[in-house]
Amino acid sequence: MTDLNYSDYKILIVDDISEKVGVLRIILDGEGYSIAVAQDGKSAIKLAEEIVPDLIILDVNLPDMDGFETCKILKQKKKFKETPIIFITGGNQNDQVLKGFEVGGVDYILKPFHYLEVCARVKNHIQISHLLKNQKILINDLKKANKHLHSASRTDPLTGLPNRRDLWEKMGDEIVRFHRSKSTFSIIMTDIDNFKLINDHYGHNAGDYVLTEIAKIFNSNCREQDKPGRWGGEEFLIILPDTKVQGAVILAEKIRNQIEAHDFIYNDIKIKSTMSFGINSYNEVLTMGECLKVADEYMYQAKNLGRNRVVSVSS
Ligand code: GH3
Ligand code: MG
Ligand code: MG
Repeated sequence: MTDLNYSDYKILIVDDISEKVGVLRIILDGEGYSIAVAQDGKSAIKLAEEIVPDLIILDVNLPDMDGFETCKILKQKKKFKETPIIFITGGNQNDQVLKGFEVGGVDYILKPFHYLEVCARVKNHIQISHLLKNQKILINDLKKANKHLHSASRTDPLTGLPNRRDLWEKMGDEIVRFHRSKSTFSIIMTDIDNFKLINDHYGHNAGDYVLTEIAKIFNSNCREQDKPGRWGGEEFLIILPDTKVQGAVILAEKIRNQIEAHDFIYNDIKIKSTMSFGINSYNEVLTMGECLKVADEYMYQAKNLGRNRVVSVSS
């Protein structure tokens, strides 16, 4: 078990009989715990709110409400859900022991106290709650790290767009959706024209800048449900849910026009660029690979026809 520094742990003792409190206080003080005392249910709840104890020792018999009621009220509050509460009960009172567990107690100490037993029970529950807290922190950290990894493994670091792996999954989701609800989706495969020349003329960093600016143009033109992503190199794929070829052509033409008109200003130098687009719509006879291949073929047709154009099945 972990070595605990007992003075880091606050124990709230709730009992109205001062001799009993005195004995408990001496026992637990001796172990090094920080001790606070309340004499009735109401002040125990108030004090618990203030000091947030690590463990509560609660007598069943209190002057205002009984210990069970006090425990119930504490356990309804989120911050005491995990706080171990140990009841002090009279000997030979099985029903009290059971009731203590029912209302959320973790253990009980029978009167009269045995020094070693009190210490052992308190230490046990302090250690268990310490381990549980650490475990929760660890699980939370792991969840955060997993979330981060999940998103990093699906994001292109340069443009911040979804990467090929993510696009592949998203397109798979769209195919499932198609088979369920027959909702047509289209894809736009698009590639920067003569991008090698931009790198060669202005340098690789200028090329990177153009890629990030183009990603912004995609994002600003796409609807919430559209999924633009970086397919690889200077090639991008846009998945358009609930969109027929005609709709995809309109979007591709809009983006094509904007890119053609855009001045990419890098280090005060104006760079011009264009893109070629191939469009396809999904239908049930196609596999995902075939659907992508057709869009790619249209994109290459656009290149062969002189670049800076949109080619689709109906064009
Ligand atoms: P085409 O019109 O036929 O597509 O010609 P292109 O020059 O665009 O095609 P090519 O395949 O000859 O060249 C693509 C270039 O894109 C070469 C490669 O170095 C560059 N490229 C790919 N990824 C990146 C990147 O992340 N950053 C930069 N700066 N360049 C990249
Ligand atoms: Mg290219
Ligand atoms: Mg290319």
